[in-house]
Amino acid sequence: MEKSLILIKPDSLQRGLVGEIISRFEKKGLKLIGVKMVSLDDAVLEEHYYHLADKPFFGEIKDFMKSSPVVVLALVGGQGSVLAIRTLVGPTKGQEAPAGTIRGDFGLSGANNIVHASDSVENGASEIARFFNSDELFEYEKTDSKHIYGN
Ligand code: ADP
Repeated sequence: MEKSLILIKPDSLQRGLVGEIISRFEKKGLKLIGVKMVSLDDAVLEEHYYHLADKPFFGEIKDFMKSSPVVVLALVGGQGSVLAIRTLVGPTKGQEAPAGTIRGDFGLSGANNIVHASDSVENGASEIARFFNSDELFEYEKTDSKHIYGN
């Protein structure tokens, strides 16, 4: 199984999109194993967005991500689900993201772009470990799995 970390960003919280976004992941068939609200700080953002640390807009990203709490999800799905989630979320810029994707349906910005989703299986595992303590993650059987995945 593959795991993804989702951050429902401050713009979504302010715009009342949290339920809609969680619903899209649920309807896709993904299993929710963790959910919480947190206020991010510079330390976690500098770790999470280390690949952008030398960009001129890095300060803006941090200010935006600290502007209100975020809702953090840990999702589990079968093989290929990390990529499927990225497809569901859409490309970085909302104004270019295809209709039907979360960013394409709700965003018009490359900065305030609604959600973060892990971009690889490796990063999914490490990002979930970054944002969740082990006692905040839940193991359970999702009884619709046989209908979602077949045999
Ligand atoms: P993604 O979130 O699609 O994986 P990146 O990892 O490249 O994209 O960027 C991380 C986040 O940094 C983006 O989701 C967005 O919020 C912000 N960002 C990326 N590029 C820009 C930019 N040119 N200007 C402002 N913010 C940006």
